[in-house]
This record gives sequence, C-alpha cells and structure tokens, in this order.
Amino acid sequence: MSGAARSFTPFAGRRIAVMGLGRAGLPAAQRLRAWGAEVACWDDRPEGRAAAEAAGLPVQDLAAAGAFRFDALLLSPGIPHRLPAPHPVAARAAAAGVPILCDAEFLFEAVRAAGSGARFLGVTGTNGKSTTTALAHHLLRGAGMVAEAGGNLGPAALSLNILGTEGVYVLEMSSYMLERIATLRFNIALMLNLSPDHLDRHGDMAGYAAAKARIFARQVAEDVAVLGMDDAPTRAIAAGIAARLVPVSGVAAQRPNGIWAESDQVLRDEAGPILDLREAPALPGAHNAQNAAAACAAAFALGVPRESAAAGLASFPGLPHRQERVAEIGGVLFVNDSKATNADSAARALASYERVVWIAGGTGKEGGIAPLAPLFPRVAKALLIGRDAPEFARTLAAHGVPHEIAGTLEAAVPAAAAAARAGAAPVVLLSPAAASWDQFSGFDQRGDRFRALVQALARVDGRAA
Ligand code: ADP
Repeated sequence: MSGAARSFTPFAGRRIAVMGLGRAGLPAAQRLRAWGAEVACWDDRPEGRAAAEAAGLPVQDLAAAGAFRFDALLLSPGIPHRLPAPHPVAARAAAAGVPILCDAEFLFEAVRAAGSGARFLGVTGTNGKSTTTALAHHLLRGAGMVAEAGGNLGPAALSLNILGTEGVYVLEMSSYMLERIATLRFNIALMLNLSPDHLDRHGDMAGYAAAKARIFARQVAEDVAVLGMDDAPTRAIAAGIAARLVPVSGVAAQRPNGIWAESDQVLRDEAGPILDLREAPALPGAHNAQNAAAACAAAFALGVPRESAAAGLASFPGLPHRQERVAEIGGVLFVNDSKATNADSAARALASYERVVWIAGGTGKEGGIAPLAPLFPRVAKALLIGRDAPEFARTLAAHGVPHEIAGTLEAAVPAAAAAARAGAAPVVLLSPAAASWDQFSGFDQRGDRFRALVQALARVDGRAA
C-alpha cells in the first residue's frame, strides 16, 4: 500500500511534542512526522538529542520558557508526570492543559483514522506481561490470524504496521502507559495480577491498581475483560468492569465462565480440559499456568478454535531470558532465566524444578537471597558470580547449601555443567536473583552470554560424541 501510505496523514495539522528519545521515542517521532504531524523532540540526554538530529528530526528544548504550544505531549513511559515529581516538561504540558499521551494511543488513533476496525488486545499486570503478550500473539498466529505484538516489551507501538480490519494488535501495557491513554479502547483487556511495584510513581497500592485498571476504562458490554483471580487486589477490580468478564486462575480457582488450571496442571474451562500443561515445556510452574489461562481466554474471545489454542500452548517457544530452555546436553537441561533480577522472580524459577545446579549473583537487591531459603533444599550446588557473590555465599553457608564462588559466567557455566553431569541435578539454572550491571550491560546481555557459553559446551559435546 505504498501509494496509500504516502497520502496517509492522520495527524496533519497536529503539533506533537515528543519528550524522551529512547527505544520507543525516536521511532515514534519519525512515524508521527511521516503521518503529517509537526513534531518537536527533546531528551535530557545529549545522546538522545544527537540521535534525533541524525534522523533529521527537529530538536527543541521543550522546557524552555514561553507558551507550550502543542496539541499533545508524547512522554516516554520512564519519565514521571506526577510522582515522585513531575518532569518540568510534563508540568508545563499539564499547566497548559495539553494531554499527556503514550505511543499506543497514537497507534490506535492512526488505525481508526485509516478506517481499520483491527482489534486491540491489551495485556497488563505486575508479572507475566511479556510472556502473556508473546503467548497470546503465538496463539493467534497459530490459528492463521493476522496479528502483531509489541508495546512495553518491544517493538514499540509506533513501530507496528497498520493492519486491516481482520488484524489484531497485542499490546503489552505498563501502568505508566495506561495512565497516558485517552481514546484507546481495548476490545479485549487482560490483567494478570497485582503486587506492590513502582509505588514511587503511583503513590500507593491503590494508585497503582487504579492506573492498571484503566486498561478496562473504555470497554463496553460487547468487549471482553480477562481478569486474574489469584490475588485480592486484582479480584477487587471485577466490580468496576463493564465488559464480559472471563475470570482466569493458575491455581485452580474455578469460576463460572472462567479458565483455570487444576493443581494437576490441566488447563480447563467449563467445556472440559484444554491441555495438560506438562505438554507445554516453555510454560512451567503455576505462574505460567496463570499466563496460559489468560492468553487462552483472550484467544478464545478473538475466535481461536480450542484445538488450535491447545497446539499453540504446546508449541510456544517461550521468551528469551525467562526460563528459556537453551539446550539439553548429555541429559542436563540448561535454563536461562537471566530476567530474574530479584529474589521474587528467582523463586518462581527455583520452584519450577525439583533439583538444580544454580548460577546466581550480580548486584543483589535489599535482603539478598535470604527470602529464597525455603527453596534451598532444591539446590544441589550453587555457583556464584558478580559483586555480591560473597554475600550470597554467606547466606548459603548459613543454610548448609554447597556452593562455590566462580566469579564470572565463563567460569560458572563449565563448573555447573560438570557438577550436573556428575549427578548433582538434571538442570543447570541461571536465575541470578540480582541485577547484572556490575558485569553486563543488562539482563539480556547476561542471558546472551550464558546461551553462547552453553552452545559452546554443546559443540564440544557433539564432537566428543
Ligand atoms: P513482565 O513482562 O510482567 O516483567 P515476564 O513475562 O517478562 O513479566 O516475566 C518475568 C518474570 O516474572 C518471569 O521470569 C517469572 O519469574 C515471573 N512471572 C512470569 N509470569 C508470572 C505470573 N503470572 N505471576 C507471577 N510471576 C510471574
């Protein structure tokens, strides 16, 4: 549709200020300009401004004195507009009565301006958003539907294509994005769970829950609301929902019209079993049962047949760095859970396996790995890396868990493989319970390194065999 694309200018005559030129902001500014808007960009970091200049975008200090003459402010989700303190540009927009929006809002407006009735599935919750977004997308594609996924997990909403009426957008929505939508209505809105998070930005738990609940805000009776039943703050949101409610649970909370996983891990609804989740290797644990139930509910609401959804759950490859099954070498499974940057998420991974050789460490969070003590009996041996290896070692020693300070991943991976093969455990799990900044550029680089080291081991093993 190149001819149509050239003349598609839904934002002609709109002046849009773009604040924050990172992974999402830069493509957003380019897209909005291509769609006819007059954009002005700013980033407090010189690198951000340089990138915009290199892309030929107008750069202007949006905090400078003078009237704030814009129709909208696209504010990067990482920049606060309220708490703990509004960014000066956000404060100026608010004082001028200019709406503060996120990129998903502009995508929605553009799709509707194109005359497309493409449906929008929004996914939120404290944990499991990315997994559920990717899984729902996989189920839709598996049924032969036209669907694109993006938002918080990337690609950014304004990097997605304009789909026709048969298409579906699956958007991961953070609480920060949900605070910044105006007309975006989700045909299917999905909220997994709520636990205290980002309270500096939302004031308190009530503020955080209210921001998340906005995913249901513009829904009407013909829409579908998929809601997790496994924690009280999420259950409480049901009362305010206008759409058809589909309650979901990963821990056997059976409700009318719902989808739930029995304690034996069989996913089912009132019509009967859907799939034994032991046949879905990328979805281990009760937390993933919740994600599976929710993605299935969304897929059913969008018309995916039952058998196709079951096949999709089984074939889901999982997301990188989240309990990603990297390889099986000589009967030992290597799992990359580098995304587990705190004890809470490492607990989910440890709870998913009976016995593991555990690689952990990095920049630990408050409390270190002490909260994981109930799971220590599953750890045959720990190999510790990074800055807080000595502190983690003290905690393990106090509980009598065998461990060794390996220092680096390069040393930890072969040592863990050797221990596992000597019979300690059938699984080597990288689930650091710590941030990666001391040794890596981020959790993804740490996970990529782990994967490369494991693949190198596999090649050596292949030659030996
Ligand atoms: P998010 O996008 O919300 O950060 P992810 O899908 O990336 O979530 O998962 C991050 C980590 O959170 C996973 O490695 C897992 O440990 C944990 N997790 C995933 N799904 C859930 C869930 N439904 N409930 C609780 N924890 C979860």
